[in-house]
Amino acid sequence: MKQIEESIFPMEDALEMVLVFDQNGNISYVNASARHKLEYGQEICGRHISEVFPNTFLAGAGMEEAEKLSEEELCSLVAYRKNHTCFPVEARILKDQPDRTGYICMANDILEKEFLGREVERIRQEAEEAAKVKSEFVANVTHELRTPVNGVLGNVRELLERPLDDATQKSLHLVERCCDDMNKIINSILDFSKLEAGKFTLEPRKFHFRNMMDYVKANHINKITEKGLNFFMTVSPQIPEHIIGDELRIVQILNNLISNAQKFTSIGKISVEAVKTAQVNNQIEIFFIVSDTGIGIDQADMDKLFQSFSQVDASISRKYGGTGLGLNISKQLAELMGGQIEVESEKNRGSTFSFSIWVETTEEEGGLQQSYDSKELLLSTVSEAFSEDEDTTEDIRTYGTEENLKNLKKNLSKLILCVEMENWEKAEMFMEIIRQLTGEAPPEVKRMALRLKMAIQKEDYEKVSAAFGELNNFL
Ligand code: ADP
Repeated sequence: MKQIEESIFPMEDALEMVLVFDQNGNISYVNASARHKLEYGQEICGRHISEVFPNTFLAGAGMEEAEKLSEEELCSLVAYRKNHTCFPVEARILKDQPDRTGYICMANDILEKEFLGREVERIRQEAEEAAKVKSEFVANVTHELRTPVNGVLGNVRELLERPLDDATQKSLHLVERCCDDMNKIINSILDFSKLEAGKFTLEPRKFHFRNMMDYVKANHINKITEKGLNFFMTVSPQIPEHIIGDELRIVQILNNLISNAQKFTSIGKISVEAVKTAQVNNQIEIFFIVSDTGIGIDQADMDKLFQSFSQVDASISRKYGGTGLGLNISKQLAELMGGQIEVESEKNRGSTFSFSIWVETTEEEGGLQQSYDSKELLLSTVSEAFSEDEDTTEDIRTYGTEENLKNLKKNLSKLILCVEMENWEKAEMFMEIIRQLTGEAPPEVKRMALRLKMAIQKEDYEKVSAAFGELNNFL
């Protein structure tokens, strides 16, 4: 019987009642839960199992009943406490292993199980109700906040149209900016609460992709150049003119990433890039990259980045402000659009945030038409870039042909030479040619090319070497 005790020892703290008895019905072990529910102490050991289950086992009789029950999945028994009161249980009786001379009974108090089930349901309903109340409260409060803020904003803008002295004008502009900031915070809280409550719905419609990118650029260019930073925006010619997606939410993610890039960069440049990375029927994947040469993020802090209300450290939030909601909202939005968001960063060397989304192409700009358009564009760019080379043939543009791979390798060697000589500008030029030559390559090759491009933009020698090696080896 010692063997049984050792093997069932982990059951001591189980919620289930566990009783072990031998082939004569003598109890040898009872776990804490069973002792508690049956209101016995250790003195229960040595008693006969019929004292606990008198309706099932007869005192002095053999264990035929236990043998029979051990073949059943579950059985309903009545358990008696030491004070002779009783309660129904749902039990399993197993033969003890390995000598098979004793039995283990595992039982659950049915009333308690039902009670717990009801409690769980009650708590679940309460939590659901609380979440509903919370999101209604957030919706009401943000609405109530927005009304006075917009009232102030409207009046300030009206005042700003009147002739004012410089000092008053400056103060009013400050009030205007504070109201704009307040509106952004209110919107973030509203979005966050809707996303949390699962009540957020996308509103896809047809829009002009390049116009959207121009709008995003116009939103940020002044602030970025005022800080003395350079700004680059590239949109791949392979992205159709019109797409069907939630423009407002794509702009929201881009605005968040570019604002952060601007906020956390004081020297260097910010670049934004959009490329088409995959197509399945009329669905295309667009990949956006926002890179900066700013303060960067410690490896240890990266995991926290996309959590709600998370900022890297308190001194950063004091210096730069913000709610810590932007990246969490961006992540949830990108995921709603079938994509994901990622970050690569190094302390003091800048950050690259990238995200993908899936959108639809419009009927008139379906896959075939699009690939024809991009081929034309590809041809012109590649021809220009190769004007010094005589061998510009049709094949160069088709990824995987002998001509295409030969040119890819040639340009890769030129690129790495420029990198060795730290001529980053020229390296970027060769990179552009490589991008064109991989324009029709499978997504994994495009991603390798993108990684190389990102590393070149960051002028990071080690990352360029790694990305170069990866692409070169693949080819
Ligand atoms: P916030 O509104 O506070 O900027 P975000 O969720 O957009 O909220 O960003 C969270 C934190 O991530 C920022 O406070 C900052 O610490 C870090 N972070 C985001 N983008 C960058 C970046 N481009 N460079 C450095 N740190 C960044």
